[in-house]
Amino acid sequence: MVRKKVLTMSVLSDQIRQHIVTNGPITIAKYMEEALGHPRLGYYMGEDPLGRSGDFITAPEISQMFGELIGLWCGVQWKMMGQKEPFNLIELGPGRGTLMADILRAGLGVNGFIESLVLSLVEISPVLKGIQEETLLNSIGSEVRKTRALSWISQLSEAPDGPFTAVANEFIDVLGIRQFQKTTKGWRERLVDVSESEPFKFQYILSESLPEDGIVPSNLNNTNVGDIIEIRPAASALINEFCSRLKQNPGCVLLIDYGHYLTACGNTLQAISNHAYCDPMDSPGTADITAHVNFELLNEFFIKNNLKVKKIITQQDFLRNMGIIERAENVSKNMKFTEKTNLFFRLKRLMSHRLMGNLFKVILTYKSKNNNYFGFN
Ligand code: SAH
Repeated sequence: MVRKKVLTMSVLSDQIRQHIVTNGPITIAKYMEEALGHPRLGYYMGEDPLGRSGDFITAPEISQMFGELIGLWCGVQWKMMGQKEPFNLIELGPGRGTLMADILRAGLGVNGFIESLVLSLVEISPVLKGIQEETLLNSIGSEVRKTRALSWISQLSEAPDGPFTAVANEFIDVLGIRQFQKTTKGWRERLVDVSESEPFKFQYILSESLPEDGIVPSNLNNTNVGDIIEIRPAASALINEFCSRLKQNPGCVLLIDYGHYLTACGNTLQAISNHAYCDPMDSPGTADITAHVNFELLNEFFIKNNLKVKKIITQQDFLRNMGIIERAENVSKNMKFTEKTNLFFRLKRLMSHRLMGNLFKVILTYKSKNNNYFGFN
């Protein structure tokens, strides 16, 4: 695996270098797109990056209670929206299919919900798509066969029209960011260039020209020379797509990711390989490159489209409101001591202030006649 990683890195590095030498420095968003999504050599095109033996671990992989509560949440949304049939359940970036499997198993508890579902999974990785197929068609095949349809698509716009719930866990953070740095001459974009030395390195350079009008958030006060601000064009495109769906149909969007409530300066670009941080510029194609999600900016996009964002709350509050503690107590009643310890250790990982509980936030946007925002009250 390590040898393959090194090979991927050098081939992809050479391609990106060639592009930069020919066309000039690229945005960080473009660099991330290539490093993660290059059709043959991108990080998400290679081996399964998730789980204990992979590079990082996500909430659904930590405990099935996470997905089960989201399944219950989706079922309740379906009921509150008037039990529409067919009803689209869209997941973006489904990883190993674990969240969807847990959603469907828990959704069985809501009468008629599973039978109304048209499932659409937005995924670019062929490897993960294969794992999702295995999880959904084999492990929980009997639940999936009760749904009306299941398909894989490469972008949200390909999902069928109609009433829907969309969920995404740790999806926005992989979408490319652009960074701007305050200089004595004003804001300038941070771009990716290559060094002239051999062996070459990718390095940051500041653009000489002014950024496009309106691209740097206007509500930044007291910024200093050297400060960095991040924006995420692909996230705004995604939110616009959600908004046009919400204008036509009843629906709701539940996004869970790590990030901050308010727009603030800071460089949050990071890369993780083998559960350890590494330099994003060192490893195109071999590490997961992500950046924190700015929930205020997501919120603003919804509001610009006249859509109401119910609330942004922490993962800890969302899971607590949904009854994760009662659920853990209930499931663990007949467990042996070691199983119980394991379950509460995982619960702590999801909920603790110092672990995922606070850093991860949940945003809900909604359009429906009712006003009961289950899980957010
Ligand atoms: N939601 C999962 C996995 C998160 S990792 C979990 O919580 O475990 C990010 C996921 O998004 C992976 O499935 C990855 O292949 C997918 N992905 C990354 N970039 C994408 C893109 N541009 N379009 C669609 N899927 C993408």
